[in-house]
Amino acid sequence: MKIRLDKYLSDMNCGTRSEVKKMIRQGLVCVDQKIIKSPEYKVDTEIQNISVQGKLLSYEKYRYYMLYKPAGVVSATTDRRDQTVLDLIPELKGQDYFPVGRLDKDTVGLLLITNDGPLAHRLLSPAHHVDKIYEAKIQGMADQTDIEKFAAGVEIGEKKPCAPAKLQILSVDEKTQTSYISLTIHEGKFHQVKRMFHALGKEVTFLKRVQMAELSLDETLKPGEYRELTEEEKKKLC
Ligand code: URA
Repeated sequence: MKIRLDKYLSDMNCGTRSEVKKMIRQGLVCVDQKIIKSPEYKVDTEIQNISVQGKLLSYEKYRYYMLYKPAGVVSATTDRRDQTVLDLIPELKGQDYFPVGRLDKDTVGLLLITNDGPLAHRLLSPAHHVDKIYEAKIQGMADQTDIEKFAAGVEIGEKKPCAPAKLQILSVDEKTQTSYISLTIHEGKFHQVKRMFHALGKEVTFLKRVQMAELSLDETLKPGEYRELTEEEKKKLC
C-alpha cells in the first residue's frame, strides 16, 4: 500500500507531521537512496527503503499499544455518539487499528490496541483460554462460598455455566458491605464479570482489567494514557 512520505514518517514516530515535513524539505530523507524533498511523495513501505539522516527505518507491519482505558469511552473504532478508545490515540487515526476485545463503557484498565488481526484472533479465540485478570469493587460481602462457586463455574443463564474462575478476596468492609476482589477468567462473554457476581446476588460497582494473557497494565500510565508495547511485552504476546 502506498502512503505519503510525511504520513509514513510521522506514523513511524520520526516527529510530528510538521516536523517531518521540514525534515523532508531539508533533504534529510531518502527513498531507495534518492533524496526526496516533497512530503506528499507516495511510498510503498513494504518494498522501498526509507532512511532519515542515513538511518534506515525498519518497516513494522504490526504495532501494539497498551491503553489505560478510562470510564466513559467505548471499545470501538468509531461511534456516532461516544468517544472511542481509538479517539484517545490520535496518531493512529485513519489506520487499521482496533481494540482487542471489549471492555464496557464504565470498565477501566488494560486494553490492547493493534493492527495485528491474527494475534487478536488468537487472544480472543475461546480455544486459547487466555487469562484475563480483573480487580473489582463489589456491593456485598464476598466469602469462601463465592470462591467455591466461582471455582465450580457460575451459571449466568447461558447454555453452559461459565468456565471455572479464580476469585481472590482482597479485603472486605463490613461497615459499607463492600468487597474488593481479584478475579481471573478465561472467557470473554458479554458483561461476564458483572453477570457472574449478579448471579451470586452481588453487584459490581467498579471494574478494572489489570492483565490479559502475559500482558499487565503499566500502573505508571494514567487513565486515558497509552504507550507502545516494549519488545519484551511483544515477545510475551506473539
Ligand atoms: N466483564 C464485564 O462485566 N465487563 C467488562 O467490561 C469486562 C468483563
